[in-house]
Amino acid sequence: MEDQQPRYKITEEHAAKFAYYVLDWQEKLSLSNYKIYISMKHNRDENTYAETESSSEYKTATIEINDYWVTDPTDEFLDEIAFHEVSEILLYPMGEALEKFYSKEYINILTHNIIRTWENLIFRKDGMIRDRDIKKKKVKSIVG
Ligand SMILES: [Zn+2]
Repeated sequence: MEDQQPRYKITEEHAAKFAYYVLDWQEKLSLSNYKIYISMKHNRDENTYAETESSSEYKTATIEINDYWVTDPTDEFLDEIAFHEVSEILLYPMGEALEKFYSKEYINILTHNIIRTWENLIFRKDGMIRDRDIKKKKVKSIVG
């Protein structure tokens, strides 16, 4: 039986939007001292959207975008994947420090637990940040 998962081609336009979101998160997460390179990679594991390699010593990072995704690359999803990858750059130095005590696999699990929590806060419809924005609006309307 053939794989029934959908495949979406990542176009130059998607890549350009992704790069824009990466720059935006780079600034928001205070990583402006990093040089982030973005490139497209062919023929990767189908469930991978992008992969990031960082050097905290040289303050560089490379994000490779997979050329086919199993999820529709909407603007919001491109933004979320950009956030995910830039968060990995942010947490990488902490992971490096933990390598003295824990395996890379365990550090990767811890890192992704944090990133998934942040993703839920920022991107899920019932996430706390959106919820708080709604509450702020209510407060404003009460205050006048
Ligand atoms: Zn990841």
